[in-house]
Amino acid sequence: MNVFDNVGDFIFPIFVYECESNYQNSLRLRNLNDSKVFINNIPVFIQKLIDLKICNILIFGIPAKRDSFGASSFDKNGITQNAIKTIKSNFGSRVNIISDVCICQYNTSGHCGVCCYDGANNSNEPKKNTRILKIDNDKTLSILGKISLSLSESGTDFIAPSSMMDGQVFYLRRVLENNDYDGIKIMSYSSKHNSSLYTPFRSNNFFKSDFIDKSSYQNSFYNLSESFREVIMDIDEGADWVMIKPSLWYMDLVKMMKSYTDTPLVVQNVSGEYALVQAAADNKWLNKTEWSALSLMSMRRAGADKIISYFIFELLNKLLDK
Ligand SMILES: [Zn+2]
Repeated sequence: MNVFDNVGDFIFPIFVYECESNYQNSLRLRNLNDSKVFINNIPVFIQKLIDLKICNILIFGIPAKRDSFGASSFDKNGITQNAIKTIKSNFGSRVNIISDVCICQYNTSGHCGVCCYDGANNSNEPKKNTRILKIDNDKTLSILGKISLSLSESGTDFIAPSSMMDGQVFYLRRVLENNDYDGIKIMSYSSKHNSSLYTPFRSNNFFKSDFIDKSSYQNSFYNLSESFREVIMDIDEGADWVMIKPSLWYMDLVKMMKSYTDTPLVVQNVSGEYALVQAAADNKWLNKTEWSALSLMSMRRAGADKIISYFIFELLNKLLDK
């Protein structure tokens, strides 16, 4: 078992920026920088990945403007949609594009669903000092459907619903089928746990980086049977690949799922897991190359068929001595 035997099973997350000054500012955070690209630089960036034999990418769009509704998430000329078109017209099937389907990067609340606010007539328009009463599952599904159609039209290979709304895979599978997109696959964020390990991603990609309580729709760390059930339900609803997230803290679940199903199992090695190692490496407390190679291989050993990780760009560069 080694990293090179598994290059085709790695998925590299990328953040595509619509606004160049936002892109430049984000580089100053010195966190996850390998994953960031300004939309105009996409062809050069993707060619570098192909040179490293990275052929699977998970795209997150970073829009220039956000609103309370997250409307640019399903704009035909939105940032993710334009990035997909550029990649497909330059590289065709050499790149397998997996596109995140959610509204949290596009709205101002940072929530993955439509928020209903206390005392607001229009549930999407918060007034000052109002509080969120609930996340509206079905209104969110309808937006996820629009996002998925716009991404499919743009040429994505996979949609990756990450909102953790009930019934999202079933709903989106029907939307794709009813619009003749049967060939588009679904990688579902099946068991996405409520966790502070996503903080570096949120600080970089969200409108605000304050604490956001997503416990009403993301899985609990404590409830293994719920996590297991969520994955099984997504398989029944028609997911092609299912995912467990974060990775290293959840290897028991990965091993358990692998013994239960043949559906390709993906783990996401999230931004907080990356940041811990990066910070230690910056202090010369560990060897980042060794640490990242061993941790990725341990995910394979536990049963992960595919691994989403920020480590792979630098790791492959090091190992190939580029
Ligand atoms: Zn989200």
